[in-house]
Parts: sequence; C-alpha cells; structure tokens
Amino acid sequence: MRKKIVAGNWKMNLNLQEGVALATELNAALAADKPNCDVVICTPFIHLASVAAVLDAQTIGLGAENCADKEKGAYTGEVSAEMVKSTGAQYVILGHSERRAYYGETAEILKEKVNLALANGLKVIFCIGEVLEEREADKQNEVVKAQLAGSLFDLTAEQFSNIILAYEPVWAIGTGKTATAEQAEEMHAFIRTTIAEKFGVEAAENVSILYGGSCKPSNAKEIFAKPDVDGGLIGGAALKCADFKGIIDAWK
Ligand code: 13P
Repeated sequence: MRKKIVAGNWKMNLNLQEGVALATELNAALAADKPNCDVVICTPFIHLASVAAVLDAQTIGLGAENCADKEKGAYTGEVSAEMVKSTGAQYVILGHSERRAYYGETAEILKEKVNLALANGLKVIFCIGEVLEEREADKQNEVVKAQLAGSLFDLTAEQFSNIILAYEPVWAIGTGKTATAEQAEEMHAFIRTTIAEKFGVEAAENVSILYGGSCKPSNAKEIFAKPDVDGGLIGGAALKCADFKGIIDAWK
C-alpha cells in the first residue's frame, strides 16, 4: 500500500527563529492529535539541523528544498546531499518548477541531483508539471512524461522505490488557482500509467503521487479523495500551523 503524505515546502520564507517556532508548534499539534498520513516539512538548508532537534522524527519527517548536483569540493555556496543527510533530514525536494525556471535546472542536472540524493540515503520528492501555455495547447501529458523520462528513467526499480512524485501544475502554484480534483486525478492516473510502463505495475501502485498548487484546508479533502492522489505538496499554507494541520486533517 502506498503512503499518504502531506509535505510542506517553506520555500524562501521564515528566518531561523520563525522556522523553529513553526516546527515546534506543529510538533506539539501533531503530538496531541496524531495524523492519519506521513507528514514532512521541507525547509531552507540553514533551518534543517535546528528543526531536526525539535521534531519527533516518528511523526514528522524533515527534508531540504534542493541539493547540489556535485558530490563535494570547490563549489562555493552549494550544499551537498551528504550534508543534507547529516542534519537528520530524510527527504529532499528536487525538480521544483521554481528551480527549473529561475535557476536553469535541466533534466540532466536534476538527474545528477536525484542520483546523489538517493546514493546518500535521501528520499526524493520529485516535482513535475506543465506551464499554462502547455496546458492550453493540451501538451501537459507530453511535458510531464518528458520530465519523468529525462531525470528518472535511468533509475533501477529499487532506486525508484525511494521516489515520491509531486504533480504541480505551474499555473496553480501560488496563484490561488487550484487544478480541479478531476484535472488532478486525470494527470495522476496518467503519471501512474507512465510509471507502470517503465518500472512495472507494482512500482506504479506503490509510488505516492502528491498534488501541489494552491492546496488549502478548504480544497484538500476533495482533491485527496481522488484514487490516484496520495496527498499534497503544500507551499503557502504550510507556513501557518493551523492551515497545514487543516490539510493534514483532510485525511481523517
Ligand atoms: P502553493 O501551495 O503556495 O501554491 O505552492 C505549491 C508549491 O509550489 C509547493 O511546492
């Protein structure tokens, strides 16, 4: 049975003190009211070690939002997968549309990052999704399939078992414009079929596919109710404990 997951992506928000305060508040809220799904928070690099220290790792997983495409060495300003792992983090988000669009991350670069993250024992939350013009031209399936193939299709089935997919239509990120539950289900089902063709039916049945893009307490239940939607990757609504908890509670 694949896992139900609600993961937060803080992006470049919250200073260290604010981040630790939010993690502490969330930890207490989930200790008092156990979630019915896996919960992960992905934070800026500088927060990781301090946030790890306040989380009950049994209840809340921790992840980074990125890692380097090189193992180690003279790469000023970069943070390696091994460094991420050494903070206590277990996950890393890779392939987010903001990294692809603003930092030029290509399928090839992402492939390196995925390989290094997996080699260092991290689970990868790999993001895919089309931009508005691609959806308007009805090219979303083609685009998403190419993103999957470009960075993940050289993995073994064993490696692939440490991948979580997140479908994030770019036009729905931070815009308040959510995909309808039907649009999400249609794409998630297509992704699962694509994974089945490449890695087999068992891998496809076991991979969690999260929806991301303006997910909030008021729409999470309807989206998560779809058979191929296994949870959410949450941006803005992960920055307030009550909102994030509201989305986690959609699984109840
Ligand atoms: P929002 O929930 O703010 O739309 O962001 C989604 C996202 O990009 C999560 O990675």
